Parts: sequence; C-alpha cells; structure tokens
Amino acid sequence: MKLSDNARAVLERRYLKKQEGKVVEEPEDLLRRVAQHVAAVEAEAFHLPEAEVAALAEAYYRVMDEKKFMPNSPTLMNAGRELGQLSACFVLPIEDSMESIFESLKIAALIHKSGGGTGFSFSRIRPQNDQVGSTGGVASGPLSFLKVYNASTEAVKQGGTRRGANMGILRIDHPDILEFIDAKKNRGELTNFNLSVAVTDRFMEALDKDESYFLVNPRSRQPVGKLPAREVFEKIVRSAWENGEPGVVFIDRMNEANPTPNQGAIESTNPCGEQPLLPFESCNLGSLNLSQLVKACDGRFEVDWDELAAVTRLAIRFLDDVIEVNQYPIPQIEQITKGNRKIGLGVMGWADLLFKLRIPYNSEQAIQLAETVMNRIDMESKQASAALAEERGTFPNFTGSVYENKLKLRNATTTTIAPTGTISIICDTSGGIEPLFSLAFVRQIMDNDRLIEVNHAFAEIAKAEGFFSQELLEKLAETGSAADLPEIPEEWRKVFITAHEIDPEWHIRMQAAFQKYTDNAVSKTINFAHDATPEQVAEAYRLAYKLGCKGLTVYRDGSIDNQPMQKGLET
Ligand code: UDP
Repeated sequence: MKLSDNARAVLERRYLKKQEGKVVEEPEDLLRRVAQHVAAVEAEAFHLPEAEVAALAEAYYRVMDEKKFMPNSPTLMNAGRELGQLSACFVLPIEDSMESIFESLKIAALIHKSGGGTGFSFSRIRPQNDQVGSTGGVASGPLSFLKVYNASTEAVKQGGTRRGANMGILRIDHPDILEFIDAKKNRGELTNFNLSVAVTDRFMEALDKDESYFLVNPRSRQPVGKLPAREVFEKIVRSAWENGEPGVVFIDRMNEANPTPNQGAIESTNPCGEQPLLPFESCNLGSLNLSQLVKACDGRFEVDWDELAAVTRLAIRFLDDVIEVNQYPIPQIEQITKGNRKIGLGVMGWADLLFKLRIPYNSEQAIQLAETVMNRIDMESKQASAALAEERGTFPNFTGSVYENKLKLRNATTTTIAPTGTISIICDTSGGIEPLFSLAFVRQIMDNDRLIEVNHAFAEIAKAEGFFSQELLEKLAETGSAADLPEIPEEWRKVFITAHEIDPEWHIRMQAAFQKYTDNAVSKTINFAHDATPEQVAEAYRLAYKLGCKGLTVYRDGSIDNQPMQKGLET
C-alpha cells in the first residue's frame, strides 16, 4: 500500500498497534488484521469452508490495499483487537427522567472510548422552569443537560481512541428552542457537540404561509405557546451565518424514509448528520474511493462501471459481516442493530474523480454523473443485500418493514454518504462528495524546510498539458485556487474549481443528487463566501428542503476563528 506522509502519520498516531508507545504494526498488517477478522466470522456464523474464508479475506485485503474501499475508522482501529467495537455511529435515547439522562450518558462514555460517535435528541426533556413532581422544584431544561454531556465527553476523550463526537438535536416545537439556537454563540462552549434543529414539515408550511406555530411541552404534550415561524427561521439562519450552527435536519422527511417504522421513530442522527437511527441503534459505514474506480481509455479516464459494481457487492458483504463480528457496548444496542442490520456504503474521492474526468464540479454534467454513479451503487448494494438475504435470511425485523412484500433484503438500509474525514486521508483522496478546499498547501518539515503538496490529479494533468512549473506551485500554495492564474488554460481553471468558488446552489444540488439514491443521509457542508448575506443562507435552506435533502450544514468562510480547514494551509 503506497501511503502519503500524512496518511502514515495518521495511521501511526491512532490506528496501528502499539506496545510501550512503539508502533508494532505495519499498515499492511493492519489491513490483514481487519480483512481476516471480518472474513473469519463467515466460518463461524455461516459455515463457510476454511479455504473460502481465506479467499474472502484476500479479496477484502485487496480492495483496501488498492484503496478502492475503506471501512469506517473504528473498524480499522478495533477489528481483531481487544475492544472489537467496529461502528462509527450510534443514537441513544434520552427520556425525561434522571435515570435515563444519566444512563445514556454512561453508555455514551463507553462508546466514545471505542471511537464511536453518538447522537441524541434532547426534545423529550421537559423545558426549563417546568415543574418537577418528585421534588416540587423547577426543571433545569435540556440545555443544562447538554452541558453535562459536553463536559463528560471532554473528560473521556483523554483516554479514548479518538475525539468523542456528538450530535445534539432539539425539535423546533420545543419550548426552549430559542435558547438552543443560541447555545453555541459563546465560542468555546459545547465544543464536543454539533447542534441541529429538528425542523418539521408543519414548521416549513407555517414558514411558507408566514404563520405562527405551536410550542409543545413534551411532558404534558400540551401546547404552551406560539412563535412566528419566520422569526425562528431567521434566528437559525442568522446564527448559522455567524458561526455555522445550528444545522437543520428535516425530521419528518427522515421518518418518511424510516424503513422500520414499527420499530420506533427517528429522533436523531449520528454526529455528522449522515446517519438517522432509531434509539439504541448503531450503524457501520464504509466508502468506495471513486477516484480509484476509473480506467484509462484513449488517453482519457472513465468510470470503471464493472469494477464499481464488483467492489460495491464485496463491500456490502464486508459490512454485513461487520454486524456479525462486532462487539456491542450494551445488549440493547446489539439487539436493535442485529434486528435491522443497517449498513451505510458511501463514496469518497468524488472531487478527484471529477478532476480525472475533466468535469467541473459546478456543471450539469457533474450533477448527472452524481446521480448515475449513486444510482448504480444503490442498485448494486440492494442486489448484493438481496443475495445475502437468500443465503443468510432477511434482517429479523423485515416483517412489518417497508420492504415486506417488495424485496427481501438482508439490511434495512445499505447506503449512507459519510464525511470520510480520516479514511480519505488514509486513501490520499478528496473527502466524501466535497469539492477540494485547496489545490496545494505548504507543509513545514524539519527546521526551516518547506514542502508544497499539490493535488495529484492537478499535478498529472498540468504536466501532461505542459503548464506545470515550480513557480505555479508557489502561487497555488498561496491562495489554494487556480482561479486567478492565467498561466492555467481557462478550460482547466473551470475543472480545478475549489469549494469557495462554487456557488452554494451547486453545493446543494450536488448534495440532493447524491441524496436521491441514498437510503440514509448525505454529509455535506454548503460553503458560502465571507460576504454572503443571511438572505442567501435562508435561500439555501429553502432550496435544500425543496430538492429533497434530509438536512443542511452551512459554513461561511472566515465566520469563526477556528475554521476547520483553511485555504492553502494544512489542517
Ligand atoms: N466520528 C466520531 N469522531 C470523530 C470522527 C467521526 O465519532 O472524530 C463518527 C461520527 O459518527 C461520524 C462518523 O464517525 O459521523 C463518520 O465520520 P468520518 O466518515 O469522518 O470517519 P472516518 O471513518 O473517516 O474516520
């Protein structure tokens, strides 16, 4: 496996086995460990003969080694090791009781320790100043408990495999919603949480008609007030414009797509928003690296559809095996996860693929291709899941699911588009379906030495087309963008477009194109220029809703100091 310096550093820091602080595993050993551990479960659970298990392990190893498929980080870290917890995503319920609030807090701590992320809805907690029957006192409300969860995560992250990430959700009709929208106004607060407002269809309707909507006390289920939808919407928009939060999730839409409504309602997603789950449910993700699923034809690249289909089918089998071999933090999580057997196969390397195919991200052609690629992956994934159902049986909660009388599936969901924050670094490709932030950046090495790292596809094409030079690299590393460099032919400047040069509308249309063929949700940040107005952000929310997105995260350039990624700078 050819690794970039950055990929090696990431693997050494947290993924490779260590003894007394020294790395004792090579990246190839890690991939073997994962492939063998996951394949081995087929001998135990499905009586696969030893020789076939060995061949399967080899096939799993090969797709990872070729960087065509990568499972989510906890699988890479923990498969075949003591923790054995392989899932990235969990949702835990919080009832309106001290027992439930602190029970889920404990489970969350165990999950964080193993590298998983947790999502919670705080919507069932009674509002601030409401009555507390048992003590005669007054309730402190969801925000106060959110702070407790944040503090606990802070303490646990010291010893865990990676930073514990959380999603905190509050319904738009909760009486404490205004306070929730402002909860991250003070920088440095609630830093272990992404916050999202669960927006209902009723709210969107009220917004459309410029009407008020009811706030409901979750304890009594009684309406306790009314707010004008437009004012609340503008407050969300303003806050997101200022600091990127809260995001929104279209909760009714998520429930419309709930494949097992008889098992409960969806209240929350995982931390990055791509995986809606039922209470106590977990899901393991994996991603195809689209930039490696190409073939050369007459000196140009095209998508290798046969390979894409083959790797998809193998990945579905891999992810279904992971459910079997996984060690679950508590029995309730095991029960519902094995009941629905949700898996989430997605993509990374989309921007790199577009570079290779010479298609600008902000073009009709790219939107079309996004739909075609994801449609194909989704179809193949369903066929693979149906084939597994023939051999191994449908998911146990199949009866009563939306698939009953339609299609016998092994998995209640098969597709999710994750951010691929770390696995895309390991594969040295662009993250998820995001455009590139920067075509080049400066890396400081040793004392005063500096090295310019440039996007591979750009370097290759620039060399082939004869516009590559050290001088060009220096300029690129300064701004990260090709836009103002006349030495790059215009047709190529269009292809090598970066996140901030792409209109928000194209970001949203891309998210919607992938969402159309994805069971779960799509992780995507909608980037705005620094001088974008709140009205433009408001428009983005409306468009996302109209185009069928399941949620939205916006980010205006430079709106917070600790911007996660800066142009031209390494993060
Ligand atoms: N996640 C987490 N902590 C992190 C990063 C990710 O708990 O620091 C979880 C979270 O549920 C997120 C999911 O992993 O939504 C997938 O994130 P990503 O695709 O970036 O993970 P990777 O597999 O690349 O590490």
